[in-house]
Amino acid sequence: MKVLITGGSGYIGSHICMELLLEGMDAVVIDNLTNAHIDNLREIEEYTGKKIAFYEGDVRDRKLLDQIFQEHEIDAVIHLAAKKSISESVKFPVDYYDNNISGTLQLLETMRLSGCRTMYFSSSASVYGPQEKNPITEEFTVGGCTNAYARSKLMAEEMLEDLYQSDASWNITVFRYFNPIGAHHSGVIGEEPNELSTNLMPCLIQAVSGQRDDLKVYGNDYPTPDGTGVRDYIHVVDLAKAHVCALRNLEGKTGYRIYNLGTGTGYSVLELIHTFEKVTGLNVPYGIAERRPGDLASCYCSSEKARKELGWETYYDLEDMCRTTWKWHKNLLRREKQGKINAE
Ligand code: NAD
Repeated sequence: MKVLITGGSGYIGSHICMELLLEGMDAVVIDNLTNAHIDNLREIEEYTGKKIAFYEGDVRDRKLLDQIFQEHEIDAVIHLAAKKSISESVKFPVDYYDNNISGTLQLLETMRLSGCRTMYFSSSASVYGPQEKNPITEEFTVGGCTNAYARSKLMAEEMLEDLYQSDASWNITVFRYFNPIGAHHSGVIGEEPNELSTNLMPCLIQAVSGQRDDLKVYGNDYPTPDGTGVRDYIHVVDLAKAHVCALRNLEGKTGYRIYNLGTGTGYSVLELIHTFEKVTGLNVPYGIAERRPGDLASCYCSSEKARKELGWETYYDLEDMCRTTWKWHKNLLRREKQGKINAE
């Protein structure tokens, strides 16, 4: 099976490429490298001994998309290419709609003309907006989004549903990711913390490595066991494997379906910090700050539907998530140091 992965050099995309190649599938990647390094794909090629067809460019570039679909017989598309910073999306909503919505439109039109009608779309738990109850199932109402990022994901989901309603020959799957963290156990790929990231793990890594003074824990008076916010962290490799299960189980089918991807277990911020300290032996400098407006006490999902329908299981626990993140980070530092020495 040949799969086009948009945004395939990024954090989640690179882990999906790795799993696809390890499962004997072929990967074609388009990425404009605005938030990724080409090194990720080289590392995957070296680790798996297989080649990835890589196109540096933008999913809004119709000519390039046409070229890719002419040069390859694509069986399915996994569409990850998107901007993903919530805070940036509040400042620059038009950029977010342009990138995330226009990109999806161009891709869908190219797919339609080329005859490829199988699409896996990377959506987000943020489409649920604020919810009072847990676990969140796919039947919960969506909307009430508080930022352009979440709204762009919801709009794309609605476009995909409309498309399926208009033409039932499409095979469309929406994955709502909860909180992916961790890295491949080899340490060759992982998430590169970026100054825009407000996600917990990248901020924790920056605090541990002295790139920020400390890790801010926003609120310790929530109605949770230790007072800090609870989220559904999922190992990125488990998340990537869900795509492989779906490609296998939904091949040749038609439909429009939605799956939550999380572990179904909530972990608090302090649990994550203390687990990281336990598995690495390091001290995480952190301080308690005021609650942030809009943050929920607790948010975790039920992923029973994906388990039942896709035959998917999660294997990694919180310790694995912390251990692999740290292994990757040490490798990244080594790589950066080596790059500097080679450049001198
Ligand atoms: P990432 O930034 O690491 O990966 C996205 C990739 O897409 C990057 O390599 C970037 O260079 C590329 N890209 C962006 N716009 C592009 C464009 N117009 N054309 C071509 N390439 C483009 O992010 P990620 O964490 O790997 O997220 C992947 C997807 O999963 C995104 O759609 C994101 O919204 C979604 N998601 C991520 C999370 C998370 O916590 N990481 C949670 C829920 C959903």
